[in-house]
Amino acid sequence: MNDILIEAKGVKKTLGKGAGLVQALRGVDLDLRKGELTLLMGPSGSGKTTLLLVFGCMLTPSAGAVTVCGVSTADADKEGLAKIRRDHIGFVFQSYHLFPTLNARQNVQLALDIRGHHGRDAARKAREALGLVGLEQKAKAFPENLSGGEQQRVAIARAFVANPSIILADEPTSALDSDNGRSIMGILADAAHQRDRAVLVVTHDPRIIPFADRIIEIEDGLLVEGKSDEPGQLRLPKAAAWP
Ligand code: ADP
Ligand code: MG
Repeated sequence: MNDILIEAKGVKKTLGKGAGLVQALRGVDLDLRKGELTLLMGPSGSGKTTLLLVFGCMLTPSAGAVTVCGVSTADADKEGLAKIRRDHIGFVFQSYHLFPTLNARQNVQLALDIRGHHGRDAARKAREALGLVGLEQKAKAFPENLSGGEQQRVAIARAFVANPSIILADEPTSALDSDNGRSIMGILADAAHQRDRAVLVVTHDPRIIPFADRIIEIEDGLLVEGKSDEPGQLRLPKAAAWP
């Protein structure tokens, strides 16, 4: 039971207003466990990003319950949700979200700044995090002088630096070529397997399948019934390497 870091039960989410109202999530039950890389796959518009944002306490569910590291998000106000994010969650996005005026080390260090951790020790930790993603030599480089793959590795170092137990990654390889995509997925898989984190990767990219411990499919805001004992879960053979 303690292996479950995120628990979602009956999660619904309505977005938009009036005639544009969309039921993005229509009753999702899903757990994320430590030591596992979970892949959430589904077509565009199926609710993947919405579910990731609900898990990450960026959106509150319209109905249902989400528990993060044993803390119910239903009782948390805006500051409480921000604290859950700071304490437990690291985000990685498709488009990196780096600050162009800050170098790689400073971008990573930002994640420590917002947690009240400043100074030399924070700078050292940021450099170490860059080392973990193979970018120790690029600490002083600015985003415009880094490749897409390098920028995504900086973003991952930023997500890891405060040592969150949960990593939520939304289409982290979609903007990358095969080599860079494979390298990013290797780093995320290691984060799950070697550091005992729960890692959720949202994607519609089938090349990622070999890195997954579990594959969950979503369609129209509902998990698709799989053949296993868990709704929405398919256990596919880890064949077919990244082309
Ligand atoms: P995915 O990430 O799988 O492509 P999303 O979670 O982004 O899907 O979107 C799920 C559904 O919710 C889609 O129909 C999308 O158009 C809709 N949606 C997403 N964000 C909003 C929003 N802010 N307002 C209204 N509808 C939205
Ligand atoms: Mg999306």
